[in-house]
Amino acid sequence: MLNEAAIAKLRAQLRGQLIERGDPAYDGARKVHNGTIDKRPRLIARCTDAADVMAAVRFGRDHDLLVSIRGGGHSAAGMGICDDGLVIDLSGLRYTEVDPNASTVRVGGGCTWADVDHATHPFGLAVPSGFVSTTGVGGLTLGGGLGYLTRKYGLTIDNLVSANLVLADGRFVAASEWQNEDLFWAIRGGGGNFGVVTSFVFKAHPVHTDYAGPMLWDLEHAPKVMAWYRDFIRQAPDDINGFFAFLIVPPGPPFPGHLHNRTMCGIVWCYTGPMERAEETFKPIRSFLPPALDLVGPIPHPVLQSLFDPLVAPGLQYYWKAHFVDEISDPAIDVHMKHGTAIPNMFSAMHLYPINGAAHRVGKTDTAWSYRDSTWAQVIVGVDPEPANKDRIINWTRDYWTELSPYSAAGAYVNFMMDEGEDRVRATYRENYDRLSTIKSKYDPDNFFRMNQNIRPGKQQRNADIA
Ligand SMILES: Cc1cc2nc3c(=O)[nH]c(=O)nc-3n(C[C@H](O)[C@H](O)[C@H](O)COP(=O)(O)OP(=O)(O)OC[C@H]3O[C@@H](n4cnc5c(N)ncnc54)[C@H](O)[C@@H]3O)c2cc1C
Repeated sequence: MLNEAAIAKLRAQLRGQLIERGDPAYDGARKVHNGTIDKRPRLIARCTDAADVMAAVRFGRDHDLLVSIRGGGHSAAGMGICDDGLVIDLSGLRYTEVDPNASTVRVGGGCTWADVDHATHPFGLAVPSGFVSTTGVGGLTLGGGLGYLTRKYGLTIDNLVSANLVLADGRFVAASEWQNEDLFWAIRGGGGNFGVVTSFVFKAHPVHTDYAGPMLWDLEHAPKVMAWYRDFIRQAPDDINGFFAFLIVPPGPPFPGHLHNRTMCGIVWCYTGPMERAEETFKPIRSFLPPALDLVGPIPHPVLQSLFDPLVAPGLQYYWKAHFVDEISDPAIDVHMKHGTAIPNMFSAMHLYPINGAAHRVGKTDTAWSYRDSTWAQVIVGVDPEPANKDRIINWTRDYWTELSPYSAAGAYVNFMMDEGEDRVRATYRENYDRLSTIKSKYDPDNFFRMNQNIRPGKQQRNADIA
């Protein structure tokens, strides 16, 4: 039974803080990135090490509590927090250790990507991550991880060497190509379904200064830019990444005054090839249609990673919907022109992130992340600081997404989904779903970890062979 004595016992077991309703820290601790999420957990266990996580998992199990795992708190669906249950908050598990000889980095399960960039940059190294530095390593990695280095070095999971996890029964295990290989396969895309990852080891790559930044064009040119981009990125060298965007130019530096608040289209580039070849590589890009603004130039990788952090601040109202996209057809461009040009405000956007290049060279069933054959992961993001505008951003996002659906693949990147139900999760994992479900039944047969894009346990399996 969950009583004061049981709670006091857990508190005594933890090195980290146990936060209850009524504690001064409670309201701060239950906040997540998306300001529309207002959940009230019974307990929040701020874990500082694997022992804390093991104690919290066993406590949740013994008391039959709904449990959520909170990494960086960026899930727009609010999957890191729960009502009336126990939150296993990993924000105290925030350490990094670079091995420059092996070009690897060990990362605590509660780190953000800013922590990782800070640790690796002085060694001239970077781990492929996302486009925003405040996002949690935990959720981004376990869902796949796409960002500036995807075309060159693959998804974040393609650079995962190993992970340590606490399973649903409280056991601590390692997963890699050599240990619990089935678990290692599943966590590379299968989200937080299989356990709490207390640490990750990633392969890092020689990336220090990128040649990168946004190029913007006036809206009237958007169909031409989109069609050119569509063809260009399909055959571009892996050294070049570029995501397409519809956006409203923020009214401040580095953007010139005459462009402030103007709706435009753009491509945010990141070139990681030899710097002496950068200008030449960008000649055809600059000449196909000279941009209205060109901010592309040398930039330290961590600065690029955090360039857009201020635009996606915590506490705003977020709603997003996503697709995988194989081809941007001309009729799809017409839909983009209808909705992309009607963005509600400067916080909202439509982005098309390329997932070809190195990410395509991993097979569809080599990891749980199935959509290796699509060319883009698209996300339509409705964001607004004002709760009163929530319906407006939701409607814009939904209408845009619905009209694009006929031109898109069936699934979406799990990390860009709201809570959209089992069919959508199945559509996303496609042929990998059944295998995921079998592995789930081995490592979490009772679906203890279900605050996620949930994979239901399938046929029961004995878990005696977990190493
Ligand atoms: C502003 C913003 C920018 C983003 N940019 C990108 C991007 O560029 N590229 C990209 O790929 N994604 C991006 N995302 C999506 C992001 O990857 C997902 O929201 C992801 O779930 C966030 O992870 P988190 O740890 O911060 O989230 P949380 O809300 O803390 O966790 C989300 C879920 O992840 C699981 N989880 C988290 N940590 C662990 C752990 N250590 N062990 C087990 N399970 C865990 C849990 O199931 C949890 O429910 C972005 C999101 C936001 C809000």
